[in-house]
Amino acid sequence: MSLAAPASAAAQSPDAALEHARKLLRSTPLIDGHNDLPWEIRRAPAPFDVAAYDLRKRAPKHTDLERLRQGQVGAQFWSIYTDGEMKDSGYARVQLEQFDIARRMIARYPDRLALALTADDIERDFKRGRLASLLGMEGGHAIENSLGALRAYYALGARYMTLTHNVTLDWADAALDSARHGGLTEFGREVVREMNRLGMLVDLAHVSPAVMSNALDVSEAPVIFSHSAARALVDHPRNVPDSILARLPKNGGIVMVTFVPQFVSTEFMAWEAAADSARKQLYAAVTDSAERERQAETWKSAHPMPSATLAQVADHIEHVRAVAGVDHVGIGSDFDGIDNVPVGLEDVSRFPDLFAELIRRGWSDADLKKLAGQNLLRVMRQAEATAARLQRSREPSTRTIEELDGPGRQTS
Ligand SMILES: [Zn+2]
Repeated sequence: MSLAAPASAAAQSPDAALEHARKLLRSTPLIDGHNDLPWEIRRAPAPFDVAAYDLRKRAPKHTDLERLRQGQVGAQFWSIYTDGEMKDSGYARVQLEQFDIARRMIARYPDRLALALTADDIERDFKRGRLASLLGMEGGHAIENSLGALRAYYALGARYMTLTHNVTLDWADAALDSARHGGLTEFGREVVREMNRLGMLVDLAHVSPAVMSNALDVSEAPVIFSHSAARALVDHPRNVPDSILARLPKNGGIVMVTFVPQFVSTEFMAWEAAADSARKQLYAAVTDSAERERQAETWKSAHPMPSATLAQVADHIEHVRAVAGVDHVGIGSDFDGIDNVPVGLEDVSRFPDLFAELIRRGWSDADLKKLAGQNLLRVMRQAEATAARLQRSREPSTRTIEELDGPGRQTS
């Protein structure tokens, strides 16, 4: 899928392309759509302890202050994730705890991080050398079917919500779960309308293609995919089909291309599926944990893990550009939310290398700036303007799922 590099770009040495990328990212904010650091802090050896998880030191996973600086990250949507399969606690409690972790983390480094709530905040923070820190909720189960809870989350700073995570909700089908509704229910549509009224971006990463399509029908503001790739290149249900990409110019939304190896590499996706089914078989057949471990090691040495690559991520970015257009593409790494990483994109310090690759493929500075963050800034400003308009004509919605979907449609 890579385009042939034009002669002038090919003549540029690798270091010249990287230097060019570094200069470009000093002039325009690089905005990453998805990083799971707050969840890493939750489950660290000292759980919930933002002091113990010291970002001034080298962190165990992909993200810390020094590597964010090297990676020239200008703004970050920190994922406020809640596990949709947890059975021992209410979703809202865990969601609130994740807001607390993220907000304490941001407040702890005032010389480096700043809570950002608007597109203007991002630009202001970038100018004064702070990493603009936005909050994005991952999983609509956290609203527990309540539009009041949705509004309270907005007040806490949430500026996007991924409609589902991996579990189908009472009002929306997830990409990786069974389709119970064939898309969004009437209440699900009301959730989208209320997000539009609030100015919270509708995030369609993780939902089924029918939900993507319904949300595009309903949404009055541009949507985002905070961490997804192109389904035409890798046929994974988490990726975005061309039929949806083709609708983005009219909606104004963007796909923030992710680095998740199984979404960007077909070979890795097949390996992951094989590893998954081998693991399930092993758990069914073997109860002794030492024996399980031994057999798992045997499987791994017989089936070495393939590598996804930076070039494959660049291919997905170029595919989204080809089908949706250069105004509809961004970056959403999913660092700290993934166990494996593409070669060349090992952690948050490596973003400039991705831009260097695209420079070698002939991308113009104007297009690189759109990809880096100008597209997301435009999307946020459109969503903010839509919210201001809707708030003049519409009161906060008090509709309920029972009222809109009928009693008995929901299970929780
Ligand atoms: Zn995710």
